Amino acid sequence: MVSGASVGFEGRGSQRSAAEGDSVLAVHPRAFRDELVSSAQWVAEYLANLDQGPVTRRLPSALRRRLGSGGLAEHGGDLFAILDFAEESLAPYPTGNGHPAFFAWINSPPSPAGVIAELLATAINATCGMGEHALMDLERGVIADLARLAGMADTTGGVLTSGGSMANLLCLAAARHWFLERRQALDGPEYDAAHGRLVVYCGAQAHMSVAKAAAVIGIPRSRVRVIATTSDRRMDVAAFAAAVRADLSAGLLPFCAVSNLGSTPTGAIDTPAPITAVCREHGMWHHADGAWGGLGVQVPGWAPAYDGIAEIDSLTVDPHKTLSVPVGCGAALVTDPQRLRAAFGFRASYLDSDENLPWMSEYTFELTRPGTRALALWATLHQLGRSGVAALLEHYDRMAGYLRERITAHPRLDLLACGPLPVVCFRVHGITSHVALAEAVQNRGRAYLATVDYDGDTVLRACICNHRTGTEHIDTLIDEILTTAKELDPDPESGRATAQFA
Ligand SMILES: *Cc1c(COP(=O)(O)O)cnc(C)c1O
Repeated sequence: MVSGASVGFEGRGSQRSAAEGDSVLAVHPRAFRDELVSSAQWVAEYLANLDQGPVTRRLPSALRRRLGSGGLAEHGGDLFAILDFAEESLAPYPTGNGHPAFFAWINSPPSPAGVIAELLATAINATCGMGEHALMDLERGVIADLARLAGMADTTGGVLTSGGSMANLLCLAAARHWFLERRQALDGPEYDAAHGRLVVYCGAQAHMSVAKAAAVIGIPRSRVRVIATTSDRRMDVAAFAAAVRADLSAGLLPFCAVSNLGSTPTGAIDTPAPITAVCREHGMWHHADGAWGGLGVQVPGWAPAYDGIAEIDSLTVDPHKTLSVPVGCGAALVTDPQRLRAAFGFRASYLDSDENLPWMSEYTFELTRPGTRALALWATLHQLGRSGVAALLEHYDRMAGYLRERITAHPRLDLLACGPLPVVCFRVHGITSHVALAEAVQNRGRAYLATVDYDGDTVLRACICNHRTGTEHIDTLIDEILTTAKELDPDPESGRATAQFA
């Protein structure tokens, strides 16, 4: 180790250590420590005061141009410029999901434990695809914890991913491999004959990453069957079974159904059991997309809707959504993890893994993988404990309930069927454009929400997955919507009615 005093440390402007010779990345240990401390102090203050400022700001076009055009200098710069750069050019213009009045998408703030863990894991810098090291075992452990929290079978294994999209892709690829392997159609003419007939099914509310994943594994749009939903916005299981039968009679090969736990637009939950029953009958794989509702069985009020989760084949969970693990942390959980390995267990002569303890790279598409996901997830779960996971989800549920009450109580607002997960869809009476309304609310900066397509209509949608969101933030959201609506489209009729409630 280099001792700071012995190498002529001269402060921030002169950070390179003479003792480390000419290495272009070398930094004097004391300068490094000082910058880490300054950065840590900045992080703590930034997160503590986040709710004081606007949810986000529009990026000035000059800054957008500057950021987007690159411009690497010939000679390297000082470490301290990094914090200044982040503070001035990046932090004022976030997505907004750290702020407790952000309701637009299912994006949470970073958990304090996760922020600390990301820094530590970055220093350890293990690659969670290969070798033998503690972080890869930790990944195995947090996967087991997630599976238990989700209520999946004890055999479940899997991998952490960059997010739900990647988890859906891995599970669909594993499903296809499993299906073709059983037909002995993994290669050759058998493959050619089977692959062009594969069909995947999903509900009308499925996330677009399902069709994207299907496209990547070679299933075109025309063989992604979109099954209608019932009036409660769940997959119509009778229609699903009928579609499978029709495809079988047409000589096609139904191989996988993707259900929603729950749906992104409205928070509806497809109960697994009846969908699994259809899958079993026809030798299909049941993948449940639980990117944001995958752990919902922890909430007693939602648990009945998760009936049969222990019998599904695979589940996507996004800890960076409901658990507040910093982005990106998703998970692909597979009841029989050997099926993931069957699809992804490619080997190379220079990568010699232990047969009894296969490397994580054999369960996923990625080889070099960050350990930040495992440690940030572990740290967040450590901070929460089992009871904290349930309490966190119940908090979202309570806040969504409060928002629904506020909407129902106001004559200018119209609550639409949504839930049980914490997403709230609603209309404002007498408004020409909900898109313009949402944009105006966003521009005012005090609250942030988005719109969604609802039965062919564009309406407002608010999701709750921020542990810091309280009733006061929901009150702010309602105030902002009503004020903005009055400015955009004063509706004399409901205006009078509103006055009684003011
Ligand atoms: C968000 C979401 C996804 C995609 O997850 P990413 O982490 O954004 O890739 C997939 N499915 C559902 C149901 C989602 O809500």
